[in-house]
Amino acid sequence: MERTLSIIKPDGVEKKLIGEIIRRFEAAGIRIAAMKMLRLTKAEAEGFYAVHRGKPFFESLTDFMSSGPIVVMVLEGEDVIRKNRELMGATNYKEAKPGTIRADFASDIEKNIVHGSDAPETARTEIAYFFSEMDIC
Ligand code: GDP
Repeated sequence: MERTLSIIKPDGVEKKLIGEIIRRFEAAGIRIAAMKMLRLTKAEAEGFYAVHRGKPFFESLTDFMSSGPIVVMVLEGEDVIRKNRELMGATNYKEAKPGTIRADFASDIEKNIVHGSDAPETARTEIAYFFSEMDIC
């Protein structure tokens, strides 16, 4: 059993895709083990995306991520890190496979609807950024 962090980004919430995205996770056999809605401050968004500090899109990305409410979830299941990344599609929606969340709903390389951890170590760190062990069912 594996865990990963999923975020429905401000554009996904704005486009009323919360239900559709959760539906896709559940239809794929993924369990939602924790979930909450919140709005990141600019500083919190910078902390979350600290690995991207110094990249040309860092300012814009952290402005975007703190621009409105997000939904953060802990997903649980076998091979869930890879399965979630597959459901999400490539970072650039133009390269995402048809039927993936980003191919279906994103319209911008930055405003790409969802975030998902990319490896077990980052999943652990990212989950701990938002949830304590007591929050996870
Ligand atoms: P992810 O793991 O697929 O989310 O991709 P990355 O970790 O590489 O990038 C983190 C986030 O930064 C992406 O989901 C996008 O929102 C944003 N991003 C990545 N590359 C670019 C880019 O070239 N330009 C802009 N504006 N945003 C980007």
